[in-house]
Amino acid sequence: MSTPGGPAMERPIYLDYHASTPCDPRVVEAMLPYFTEKCANPSSITHRAGYEVSLTITEARAKVADLIGARQSEIVFTSGATEANNLAILGLLSKQRDQRRKVVTTPIEHKSVLGPLAHAGQKGFDVVYLPVDTTGAVSIEAAEEIIDNETVLVSIQAANNEIGTIQPVAEIAAIAHERGALVHCDAAQAVGKIPVDVEAWDVDFLSLSGHKLYGPKGVGALYVRGGRRTSPLVPQMFGGGQEDGLRPGTLNVPGIVGLGEACQIAKELMHDEAVRIAQLRDYFEEKLIRELPWIRRNGNLARRLSGNSSLTFPGIDAEALMAHTSFIAWSTGSACSSGALEPSHVLLAIGLDRTEAYQTLRVGIGRFTTQEEIDIAANAIVQAVHRIRKLTTAELP
Ligand code: PMP
Repeated sequence: MSTPGGPAMERPIYLDYHASTPCDPRVVEAMLPYFTEKCANPSSITHRAGYEVSLTITEARAKVADLIGARQSEIVFTSGATEANNLAILGLLSKQRDQRRKVVTTPIEHKSVLGPLAHAGQKGFDVVYLPVDTTGAVSIEAAEEIIDNETVLVSIQAANNEIGTIQPVAEIAAIAHERGALVHCDAAQAVGKIPVDVEAWDVDFLSLSGHKLYGPKGVGALYVRGGRRTSPLVPQMFGGGQEDGLRPGTLNVPGIVGLGEACQIAKELMHDEAVRIAQLRDYFEEKLIRELPWIRRNGNLARRLSGNSSLTFPGIDAEALMAHTSFIAWSTGSACSSGALEPSHVLLAIGLDRTEAYQTLRVGIGRFTTQEEIDIAANAIVQAVHRIRKLTTAELP
């Protein structure tokens, strides 16, 4: 069978690590027994099988906590970062806290932050967006001006899923705390990729996701400063008492075991891995730029995730380029909103116009990417661009 958009011999090349990472085989191995033999419910601690699984959950919790500098009592397991973001934001804003009604965020947050904040806006909160510059970085001066004594919550991402830009979370948190606001950080893209330390960053809530760090999909966690029991959050679901009532429902045991394992592996590998991945990413970009010197890189080149590359190809429609290279898994805009007709809100917020946003593609390089794959993908992209230019006689710079 021929591969659409490429010669039959082209095997699929996965360059979409920011949308989702493959599970590390060690993670899969750790999870497997929890689907079959070790199937007891960790809430059923009256029998030994349940008690043993509950101990495994505690171990996994400790591994997650350890990666971000937290205590295991401060970790709430969720179905992913979307749920963690919703629980932090809506859980905090559900309860009136002084008379504060202002919530501060950035326009380049993930939809799972912007969505609950829009909901809060409908409930009477004043949602204010910190401006970002053309690299996607938030300015500390703007934060100084906008975050005030009316602010109840500041929600800021650690790193952006489209352009990779890393935000000055600790600096923003310091400003927020000085003015009595709490801080939530969506660190789904950062945990396992860059050092994340909830104490050093001084954040009150932090979200993470299994499938961004070589763990399984459908599992994540919310860090709540001080512990689940004393958290100011109002649960967003009601049922059993799991997770100290903050997130009721039978725990996703295999998923949690996988998340714990992924965190442990990340802690071990993160430093060297980031260096290797950044080298591969730079090699990829240099290769493309040598052949197509008119393409543009988006994001903060000095402070971005090592595996991220967001590229604008002026005059080339991104969908057409993807169709000509469909053996490569890469994406336009945010993978979470792929298929949506609207251009990426992140690209528009950093100053690209709609046309430029439609000409932008994102590559995510990760743990299992090889140089051979990068060579094949870069060559195919260059050839596809030339082919599209011939077909469309596009006027290029
Ligand atoms: N925040 C960011 C920055 C993300 O990149 C994602 C996933 N694309 C999420 C939140 C949502 O994570 P999950 O898929 O675990 O719900």
